[in-house]
Amino acid sequence: MLVRFWGTRGSLPVAQRAATTEAKIVGALLKASGRSFDDEMAARQFVRDELSFAEAHTYGGATTCVEIDDVAESFFICDMGSGLREFGIDAFRRIAGGHNRTYNFFMSHLHWDHIMGFPFFGPAFDPGAKIIIHSGHSDTEQALRRQQEEISFPVPFDWLRASFEFKTLTPGNTYQIDGVDVELMPQDHSHGSYAWKFRNDGKTTVFSTDAEHRLGDDKDKEAFEKFFTGADVVICDTMYSLAESITMKADWGHSSNVMAVNLCHGANAKKLVLFHHEPTSSDLDIERMHEETIRYEQLNRRGANPLEIVCSYDSLELTV
Ligand SMILES: [Zn+2]
Ligand SMILES: [Zn+2]
Repeated sequence: MLVRFWGTRGSLPVAQRAATTEAKIVGALLKASGRSFDDEMAARQFVRDELSFAEAHTYGGATTCVEIDDVAESFFICDMGSGLREFGIDAFRRIAGGHNRTYNFFMSHLHWDHIMGFPFFGPAFDPGAKIIIHSGHSDTEQALRRQQEEISFPVPFDWLRASFEFKTLTPGNTYQIDGVDVELMPQDHSHGSYAWKFRNDGKTTVFSTDAEHRLGDDKDKEAFEKFFTGADVVICDTMYSLAESITMKADWGHSSNVMAVNLCHGANAKKLVLFHHEPTSSDLDIERMHEETIRYEQLNRRGANPLEIVCSYDSLELTV
């Protein structure tokens, strides 16, 4: 199983500004402190070894789109945020190499940041493509059609050439989809959202974004610990810090790094992926949140197995 992150930002796509790139270059030059490099390899080595991720890279700004690869003949994709455009381009490259043209989508929910990439998804125009959209919501087709109505977009849904199938799945069941065991679970979020669990070849990945977990809600804790049990990877909505999530951003429908660690500890999960980054956070803010989460996990293990904390970024690939 391979998990590929095509979009990791929450709510709104963001792009790095000129001044931010300049500040990173200035920071790198200062750290190099007059050093010279024999070749490109040596310069890259310096960047990798001596600069932090945020100093040398960006977490990216495309909204939610995650691919679960190496599990089936068809493509498996969670959500259609703006990261879907890049996935579509890569899918054409893989199809040219003989990949199957069936796309299985699994929708967390239908908020704009999770569907906005669909009008720019090239394979939707491929007459040989089959697009199957799995959802816990029964109004998914309506949401995608409405997004392409004339007032908002020049290309109506009916002009798309792929064949479409919309499937509404029910929590509590296990579905066998192209050889993968798939389950879904309802989450606390405006208009509802769903977590998805994929099991294949002894490996489990959970995709759980746009979910509010409230301190002291034991029923929610129990249900999610059960759903996350023993997962190799849990991708969680960690948009806010705990302080933000219980004060001014209570009821905003998102969760914190602290709640995600607690649930993963309770579930004995192996790896937590921080996801759905706040659009106003800089790369340094996200990096700081990652470091704080690692410290929190170490201090609050209380007998649970060590949990690896990974911070997602656009283009991250995780082998499960
Ligand atoms: Zn969202
Ligand atoms: Zn949402």
